[in-house]
Amino acid sequence: MAFDYDLFVIGGGSGGVRAARVAAQEGAKVALAEEERYGGTCVIRGCVPKKLMVFASEYGDMVDDAQAYGWDIKPGAFDWDVFRGKLYAELDRLENVYRGILKNNGVDTYDQRAKIADAHTVELTDGTRKTAKHILLAMGGRPVKPGIPGDELGITSNDIFHLEKLPESILIVGGGYIASEFAGILNGLGVNVTQYYRGAQILRGFDDEARGLVSDEMCQKGINLHLGTNIVRMEKEGDKIRVVATNGDENLFDQVMFATGRVPNADDMGLEEVGVELGRKGQVVVDDYSQTAVPSIYAVGDVTDRVNLTPVAIREGMAFVETVFKGNPTKPDHELIPTAIFTQPEMGTVGLSEEDAREQEPIEVYATSFKPMQQSFAGRSERVLMKLVVSQKTRKVLGCHIVAPGAGEMIQLAGIAVKMGATKEDFDRTVAVHPTMSEEIVTMKSPTRTG
Ligand code: NDP
Repeated sequence: MAFDYDLFVIGGGSGGVRAARVAAQEGAKVALAEEERYGGTCVIRGCVPKKLMVFASEYGDMVDDAQAYGWDIKPGAFDWDVFRGKLYAELDRLENVYRGILKNNGVDTYDQRAKIADAHTVELTDGTRKTAKHILLAMGGRPVKPGIPGDELGITSNDIFHLEKLPESILIVGGGYIASEFAGILNGLGVNVTQYYRGAQILRGFDDEARGLVSDEMCQKGINLHLGTNIVRMEKEGDKIRVVATNGDENLFDQVMFATGRVPNADDMGLEEVGVELGRKGQVVVDDYSQTAVPSIYAVGDVTDRVNLTPVAIREGMAFVETVFKGNPTKPDHELIPTAIFTQPEMGTVGLSEEDAREQEPIEVYATSFKPMQQSFAGRSERVLMKLVVSQKTRKVLGCHIVAPGAGEMIQLAGIAVKMGATKEDFDRTVAVHPTMSEEIVTMKSPTRTG
């Protein structure tokens, strides 16, 4: 049977665009449909604008630090309009880069929603049908609100970049990556930030000592963090929002932002009708090769809810092309993925937390927490953490956790060593780079704890 395309990709985010490009470079005839902006969550309403906001939010403290170092400069005010204008221009530029990648590689693009009609056919919003030998689902995910009375008054991370003006006060609900990152960003931009998290400590799943330090430092910086607290209901009061909390508190905020998780964009796509299995969270269920229950349909990225990170979606997209278009069956590798949480302070992590490692086998923990030179000289009391979790038996470093300015940059490099299976003694053999914060990672001689 002759198909219109060898590959039809649904979703123009990081995973979909990478798979489309690489497949096209292999000679495949490829099409891609995107109903919103090219670039997807990461580029348009996630990692990229978020990181630019992190940068913007850090300049206030830098002015204070510069004064402490002898600079005669005066703090100014942050102008949201100026920043937002530049941000929009940058996102336009990046979207054009993504469109250009597809165009230059001969990928046909359809700026509309596509749904699955059968195992080899997609139907576009305008009713057009296109057939393809393979279909790749890469629709990503979207934020969800918790479904409490009045939650329509709140915003999500999708909306934060489009605010007409920065609120004077905001309540952020949630304790995950997005909630904790935006608490730091908005606090740095001068917004009065309150954060409610229903659990005992933010950043559940990460190393306890590391997330404990992040949480302490966030409070030190002025974030009003309430643990064990959630919203019961919210209602409009003048131009503010009245929030009733589970601890009985009632407060008025200018804005409420929900960062209470994300769901896969797999609903209303005709997937189950053709036999693609969906999981409990609505995610597309795939095997180790990203293949769904329908052999011609594959899925990568957040829509599969495996490890919801852009570089992982890209790896999954490339492994899919290896498997399907290069005759080289390849499983994406989900082991030992380094990651950074752009809280203030930043946290970088790879491998097992102390708690998870301890469940697995006897370990040694090497940890040091100290005031780094640059901030200490400027009169700041902030602490950083460098931590290694080591297997007593194999001596391998099972986990590395860093809380420090630039932890994201550091963990990328430490991640190579951990991925290679480096032992504690390999770290010890490496000469320190002095004076740096990260030198502590190779100079910790005696274990802090064993067990
Ligand atoms: P997460 O799943 O990480 O966090 C959701 C938070 O909301 C949790 O603290 C959760 O609490 C809480 N929550 C869930 N439901 C409710 C509810 N009904 N009421 C109150 N609180 C609730 O989601 P995020 O949206 O923060 O991030 C999604 C994913 O995006 C991340 O897992 C990550 O993979 C990715 N991401 C990565 C970033 C990076 O690499 N720097 C940055 C941003 C996102 P509980 O812990 O109790 O379940």
